[in-house]
Amino acid sequence: MAVIFDGKSLAESIKRKIMEEAANLPRKPGLAAILVGDDPASRLYVNNKEKDCAACGFFSRRFDLPATVSEEELLGRIDRINANAAIDGILVQLPLPASISERRIVEAIAPEKDVDAFHPLNVGRMVYGESPVWPCTPSGIAAMLDAYQIPIDGKVCVMVGRSDIVGKPMGLLLLQRNGTVIYCHRHTRDLAAMTRQADILIVAAGCPGLITSDMVKADAVVIDVAMNRDPTTGIFTGDVCFDEVKEKAACITPVPGGVGPMTRAMLMRNVLTLAKLHMGLAQP
Ligand code: NAD
Repeated sequence: MAVIFDGKSLAESIKRKIMEEAANLPRKPGLAAILVGDDPASRLYVNNKEKDCAACGFFSRRFDLPATVSEEELLGRIDRINANAAIDGILVQLPLPASISERRIVEAIAPEKDVDAFHPLNVGRMVYGESPVWPCTPSGIAAMLDAYQIPIDGKVCVMVGRSDIVGKPMGLLLLQRNGTVIYCHRHTRDLAAMTRQADILIVAAGCPGLITSDMVKADAVVIDVAMNRDPTTGIFTGDVCFDEVKEKAACITPVPGGVGPMTRAMLMRNVLTLAKLHMGLAQP
């Protein structure tokens, strides 16, 4: 029976440390969150981010804009927030309405306030290992592996999913920590042959039930990133068949209560990191 990683408690203890550190700074770290439209899931995510800011003692500003907002108006709003010295991190909740170019919006955020590390300059810095912050989900997973003392160096790490926000940066982070990384995606021919090689298996495909126990090596570390909402019950499940895989793996994350809370904690850590840089209290 696997050790079940407790992302919720770990995230709470990380946020407590962030709060203590923030309390000793000359001013409060500040986050601006922009929500466009009224998608309930996006609204919930932004609500949670506001709550986390309050819990960590941060300053937060929230901008709720209608789905009809024009790209130019949104760009103007970002320009004004870029110039606001009380704001250290800016996030624009994705996805945006189809009429707005996500790429243009992400590129408009000042790179030094790009709390999600989605700006192309920061993506380039990540490739060189020079970015002060990393996207929240990959850094949350790395923090969880560290907390449970799971070494990455020399391990075969299989990343299922190659999205720009989860899979790609996660693989890059594992590579930087000297993992041997295999990326899998929709075009991967024999997924099971790949996943069975994994010492560390990270799954972010958004396909409930994708990973069964026969696809997992005995004593592997299995990280389930996915949040699949059942449309009838409203219950969230991952991509990994938890009940059977937990009997074979050494460690596993639950859904919910695994990666999700760690992602939220890492957003707070990223705001704190950027704030310290802006206050001249840390080196890039
Ligand atoms: P995405 O849809 O952008 O990317 C999915 C990736 O999975 C793609 O690269 C695709 O090629 C691959 N894929 C899909 N089906 C596959 C299959 N059958 N076999 C192999 N590869 C397959 O998704 P995303 O934004 O990376 O999110 C993935 C999941 O993670 C979603 O369920 C999302 O809700 C969840 N998520 C959770 C958190 C969190 O904090 N827990 C954060 C971000 C995303």
